[in-house]
Amino acid sequence: MTGTVELVITEKCNLRCKYCYMSHDPLSLTTKSIPYIARSFDRLSKAYNTDSIHVSYFGGEPLLEWDLLKEIHINVVSKHPLVKSYNIISNGLLIDEEKVQWIKSNNIGFSLSFDGIASDISRPQVDNQTTFDKYMQLKPLLKQLTTGAKVMISPHNVHLMYDNFLFFIEKWECNFPDFSLVRDDVWDDKSIEMFEQQSKAIANYVVKRIKQNKPLALPGFFSLWIADIFVSKYLYKKKRPFGCFALYKGWAYYIDDICYPCARFASHKRLPIYDAKEDKFLMPQSTIDHYRQLVSTYNVNDCKQCSLYQSCNMGCTFNQLDEKNDTFKPVKSICKLYSIIVKILYNDLLPHLANNHIKQVLRLYNIGG
Ligand code: SF4
Ligand code: SF4
Repeated sequence: MTGTVELVITEKCNLRCKYCYMSHDPLSLTTKSIPYIARSFDRLSKAYNTDSIHVSYFGGEPLLEWDLLKEIHINVVSKHPLVKSYNIISNGLLIDEEKVQWIKSNNIGFSLSFDGIASDISRPQVDNQTTFDKYMQLKPLLKQLTTGAKVMISPHNVHLMYDNFLFFIEKWECNFPDFSLVRDDVWDDKSIEMFEQQSKAIANYVVKRIKQNKPLALPGFFSLWIADIFVSKYLYKKKRPFGCFALYKGWAYYIDDICYPCARFASHKRLPIYDAKEDKFLMPQSTIDHYRQLVSTYNVNDCKQCSLYQSCNMGCTFNQLDEKNDTFKPVKSICKLYSIIVKILYNDLLPHLANNHIKQVLRLYNIGG
């Protein structure tokens, strides 16, 4: 099993996204952490029983500490025998030609967080200036690093979802924008209703394109559910046992040299696992094993009667875990969004998708060869 490590280079960020969960302390890692980072890979891989590691350079905005990121990559990450792949998770606004060449020559993936035409609403700069025009100027550089974009859908921008989907297809040449739901308990009835209207409009548009023999285009929440349904019902006949990597098969290395379940847990100093500087576990192995069972998607009692149980991979672990009462519960407003997605999929989309469309979707997630 491959573990995921969010290596939090800095909490500093040049943006103030409306849905961001990081605390934005003006702190970063330093080169002093280099030996501790290497040690944490060995210790936590053993604790989580992972035989390889994928490293995500994370923030804040990791490009704000470019020289440090390069130094950590050259001296630790690229050299560590367990590390098999890496990427940078970035808002992309600090990209330049030198960075593009270095990222490409080191085979580092690049995951671009960009909300398209909703950027000016949901992703302003620290000084409140808008960002959309800047993205359009940087497009030739960003497109050298990735064809995709991670787009967060929240109650702030859900009314623009359909127009945004068209923007990504027509102006950003991206047929599969990774539209991901903000999975905090922030969705009220009105925004859920808006989500349904916009999703239906997108589904109608997708079907129209199929009828016109145009290439398939889908937003991430539809393509991910198609993959989850196919895997759980036909390919492996069961869903995967984890929602996200947190507490199951990954961790965050944070700027205080302590490892937490993920960057969000780290930013809130919740559930510290391992102190890399002192080489000391703060959570005993028995507690690590207990949480792995508790957050397994197979073991959640509240889900077992749900009609989506067979394929649903649940929401954000941070939001669903109540460590005081030792329970793991779904967030009801997010379940309502999932029900809408699945209803539209079965009623409006799946009847129009051919086998080659499904194969194309599965390839997006490296499923099925
Ligand atoms: S929709 Fe909600 S209740 Fe149903 S399986 Fe998913 S997380 Fe559980
Ligand atoms: S717990 Fe939530 S924030 Fe952390 S990795 Fe999982 S989904 Fe992301």
